[in-house]
Amino acid sequence: MSHNPVRPWRNIERRKSRQIMVGSVPVGGGAPISVQTMTNTDTSDVKATLAQVIAAADAGADIVRVSTPDQASTRALREICRESPVPIVADIHFHYRRAIEAAEAGAACLRINPGNIGSAERVREVIKAARDHGCSIRIGVNAGSLEKHLLDKYGEPCPDAMVESGLDHIKLLQDNDFHEFKISVKASDVFLAAAAYQQLAEATDAPIHLGITEAGSFVAGAVKSAIGMGALLWSGIGDTIRVSLSADPVEEVRVGYEILKSLGLRTRGVQIISCPSCARQGFDVIKTVEALEERLSHIKTPMSLSIIGCVVNGPGEALLTDIGFTGGGAGSGMVYLAGKQSHKMSNAQMIDHIVELVEQRAAAIEKGAQKPVDADL
Ligand code: SF4
Repeated sequence: MSHNPVRPWRNIERRKSRQIMVGSVPVGGGAPISVQTMTNTDTSDVKATLAQVIAAADAGADIVRVSTPDQASTRALREICRESPVPIVADIHFHYRRAIEAAEAGAACLRINPGNIGSAERVREVIKAARDHGCSIRIGVNAGSLEKHLLDKYGEPCPDAMVESGLDHIKLLQDNDFHEFKISVKASDVFLAAAAYQQLAEATDAPIHLGITEAGSFVAGAVKSAIGMGALLWSGIGDTIRVSLSADPVEEVRVGYEILKSLGLRTRGVQIISCPSCARQGFDVIKTVEALEERLSHIKTPMSLSIIGCVVNGPGEALLTDIGFTGGGAGSGMVYLAGKQSHKMSNAQMIDHIVELVEQRAAAIEKGAQKPVDADL
């Protein structure tokens, strides 16, 4: 539970789940909710794939998935896993040999549905490879690829069918005494995904991987993911998340973090609080915030910055932020430090000045010399 005695309305009581490891990253059991993404390069192109993995890791991804549809990909996986700064999940669909090769190549986790592998002997072989190489497994149920017998039984993809599918896959792992697994029940429809996840959360104590699949383009997908995953996370469900967008994996990571930041579940970097701007603004709020987002993207220390166009809301917002700037008259505004009014600064120099102040404060917070103003950060 994120316990906040000062602001109890911010508390989220997280569902209790077992903990598993995806390489060095704990998932479930109260561990920080990890952010994942997936590369969209040809995995056999080691250079391009590693570049994307590293860019995603720099943006904050804790875990990155790569798809391994053929032998060329599982061969490339060895170097990708060795060079990657974060654990790699190998995405496998039906080919049990690819799963074994991926485990041997150093994947930290296999995304595979044991019910799709084929004979019981093949399932045993994959589980043995996972066990021998310290891999966990993610069962990934998807509304779009439910087993035929479940579609016949339920008529269409529905929460009952998705959870039944998940529990059937879980049973195969448990029958082989394998318990290092997490599970997802994704759908592109937020209502279906949310209902399936709620039902799943009741039916198992396995860690849950959240996702609204094929969510769409950057803006549409981000909104859909924030609604679906946000509602689930707010109710305490979810141990690791992946936002699926038809966009760069780095954008998926950014959106994933923003969802977690909005709920106070994870923090990273500068949280900018800014007003929408209007005729009262003392400087160009929109352009300034764009420039600051860009110039401050290297800061990883959790802290807050308020950029407000005028005194209507500026001083109030600045009270709760590490650094604040409020527009005033005559081409200058007021700078706030740790919630207190500090000094005036001209609009022309304010971006460079704020960047410098944020960098200084981040360094002081890292050293333990100062604390972030918002105790929830
Ligand atoms: S804070 Fe001031 S500038 Fe910003 S939207 Fe409100 S009134 Fe307009």
